[in-house]
Amino acid sequence: MKPAPFDYLAAKSISEAVEALAASGGDGKIIAGGQSLMPMINFRLVKPTILVDINRIGGLDRIEKHDDRLRIGATVRHHMTATDVLVFEHLPILQDAMHHVAHLTVRNRGTFCGSVCHADPAAEMPMMTLLLNGTITAWSVRGERQIAASDFFLGSLVNALEPDEFVTSIEIDTLKPDTGWGFEEFSRRQGDFALACAATTLRIEDGVARSVRFALMGVGETPLRLAAIEEIIDGKTVSESLLDQVSEALNDFLQPNTDLHASADYRRHLAGALARRALRDAWKRADLRKGKTDD
Ligand SMILES: Cc1cc2nc3c(=O)[nH]c(=O)nc-3n(C[C@H](O)[C@H](O)[C@H](O)COP(=O)(O)OP(=O)(O)OC[C@H]3O[C@@H](n4cnc5c(N)ncnc54)[C@H](O)[C@@H]3O)c2cc1C
Repeated sequence: MKPAPFDYLAAKSISEAVEALAASGGDGKIIAGGQSLMPMINFRLVKPTILVDINRIGGLDRIEKHDDRLRIGATVRHHMTATDVLVFEHLPILQDAMHHVAHLTVRNRGTFCGSVCHADPAAEMPMMTLLLNGTITAWSVRGERQIAASDFFLGSLVNALEPDEFVTSIEIDTLKPDTGWGFEEFSRRQGDFALACAATTLRIEDGVARSVRFALMGVGETPLRLAAIEEIIDGKTVSESLLDQVSEALNDFLQPNTDLHASADYRRHLAGALARRALRDAWKRADLRKGKTDD
């Protein structure tokens, strides 16, 4: 298939980009890595009247640490996130997650922010943004606004941006030195979108889990941050009986769809199994890291 005709603007500044989006009356699209947008345009699933290319805007290709948060700019590629020294030091769970994103060629072009904006329910970065209390910064001709990740994902491929808004950066929490993490994903082949995935972080205080965060993807229309599961784990030791409790709660709670790739029952089973592994890993790592920070 070939795309419907469209205009193209290589914006040189944020203001040029937002003015072009505003002038398009809602029919313009930002292009970042183009890894998801171009196939959709070629299949005519979307027909933008103008593509606003943000790759030449200066200053958006940086990962910066501000206090205990990392700010990831709109043109930071997956490969840069996967190999960045700040991510290595302060967010090892994000490095783990990145290894599951597509293949090197796609990671060389695809961007962290583009993936979050695309809001695929089986993509890793939307879930990580939710897990790590992300804040999305969006610009339009009306100025800047911040959107909490918990308010951003509205449905499969649907986000909370207005049509004339452009994400310039996303901030996410770093992990404290004594925080353990687990990231477990299942896909048919390396680099495929996940059938299901679980991610969690926790600390150990006085022998019990604290500051628990738990998220899943591939089992709903959006990535899921599950406060009910976090509450079950908070204040407890991660033991096999606690993991049984978590699996049972997930079984009762999750309502995945059956599709070409997997049945609802299989996805529910996967979510329970991956949650158990991720929580075991997080507990072990928290124990190890606590030992090191106590020394
Ligand atoms: C073969 C293949 C396998 C893949 N496998 C995976 C996988 O396993 N896991 C995974 O997570 N992803 C996967 N992807 C998707 C890949 O990660 C994409 O890079 C990502 O989803 C989109 O990033 P992008 O920068 O290419 O965005 P684009 O394709 O440029 O844009 C995607 C959408 O987001 C919008 N957008 C982009 N940036 C902004 C912005 N700054 N502000 C506002 N809107 C914006 C665009 O308008 C468009 O609607 C795969 C892609 C391919 C082609």
